[in-house]
Amino acid sequence: MKTFDVAIAGAGLIGGSISLELARAGLRVGLFDRQEPGKEASWASAGILSPAPENPGMIATVPLGKASMALYPEFVALVEELSGQKTGYRTNGTLEVITSRHAREELSTIIALHHGLGLQAEPLSASDARELEPSLREDIEAAVLRPQEASVDNRLLTGAILESARKCGVEIFSGARVESVLREGDSCRGLLVNGEKVSAAHTVIAAGSFSAQIAGVEHYAPVRPAKGQMISLVCPETKIERVLWSDEIYLVPRTDGRILAGATVEYAGFDKALTAGGQRKLFSAAIDLVPAFERARVEETWAGLRPDSTDHLPILGPTDLQGLVIATGHFRSGVLLTPVTAKLVREYITLGSVATDWERFSPMRFAQARQQSRARAN
Ligand SMILES: Cc1cc2nc3c(=O)[nH]c(=O)nc-3n(C[C@H](O)[C@H](O)[C@H](O)COP(=O)(O)OP(=O)(O)OC[C@H]3O[C@@H](n4cnc5c(N)ncnc54)[C@H](O)[C@@H]3O)c2cc1C
Repeated sequence: MKTFDVAIAGAGLIGGSISLELARAGLRVGLFDRQEPGKEASWASAGILSPAPENPGMIATVPLGKASMALYPEFVALVEELSGQKTGYRTNGTLEVITSRHAREELSTIIALHHGLGLQAEPLSASDARELEPSLREDIEAAVLRPQEASVDNRLLTGAILESARKCGVEIFSGARVESVLREGDSCRGLLVNGEKVSAAHTVIAAGSFSAQIAGVEHYAPVRPAKGQMISLVCPETKIERVLWSDEIYLVPRTDGRILAGATVEYAGFDKALTAGGQRKLFSAAIDLVPAFERARVEETWAGLRPDSTDHLPILGPTDLQGLVIATGHFRSGVLLTPVTAKLVREYITLGSVATDWERFSPMRFAQARQQSRARAN
């Protein structure tokens, strides 16, 4: 039987970065993925690093996002050095474009919200915005510059993290399907992988959208997949310097000249098919925001599955099974939240406590909610 200090289910950005942190802390780590590591959401993502909330429900993740943003420069430097690979990290900020006739009200609401949350945001006139990004459509009303936001090439980052983990001694197993956790009384003793027992003092579930399919995990990690379709364009004569947002779309420039455009949010089970409607929306919104993209070459199209939880918040922390930790449900912010998630799980496993309050994200909240609704029904 294989024995590790820590066994991790899922080798995406989350499982990979946790394995790296723990191996650097001196633990023996086994990282198990049912397919080639790093080929699910972490591959499909856009890689935008923005702690700003997309809606009021996401405000709870802002402190976590800010903490992760602060860790990013050091995290990227570490994995680039350990792996010898680049990650396409760009710190040019992001620009949100406002086109509505009520631009003045919208602008002041956005700025007030950001400042209230301690996030930098600068109002820009239409002409100032077009000076920064001359390829924007001409009839915009105003814009918001978020100078501290960034982006990273998530495919490069995932590869660099997994290579760093390997170099630090993590044993990575591909084609290794985790079937269940190994439960003994009130403790978790490891994982059942391809029918074989893997023994570990600590077990981490980081299987993204598929976490709830691992037997024994469903009620701690009730995640469901939220499909996102993406396209990638190449348009050598038209440059954008920073991530551009509109109500309809985001455009993300890569260091190799590609422009990613995304993304739809669809609840369609585990289906990753591209649809005519989803693709049409992306193409027309991209051309609407940057008209010159009408001449862009389509380089790639794809879809991926974001791990979404019932309250759309991450699921992080220990469970009532001793030795079992959950790290999933990162939904639309898993790339942003990678460094802080790895740090928190490492602190918990090596020190027994964490420096940042993560109670709000506890996997036990679902069990407690179930108990409360049962009590109300009785
Ligand atoms: C289209 C799209 C755009 C996105 N844009 C952004 C963005 O701009 N910024 C941002 O921060 N986030 C973004 N996200 C979200 C982000 O990509 C995810 O939150 C993040 O990648 C989740 O990482 P993960 O490691 O938890 O999951 P995954 O990358 O899905 O990894 C899970 C791994 O577990 C493995 N696995 C599954 N089941 C088992 C099993 N039973 N046994 C063993 N292994 C198993 C899978 O094969 C996979 O490799 C986007 C996501 C999508 C799809």
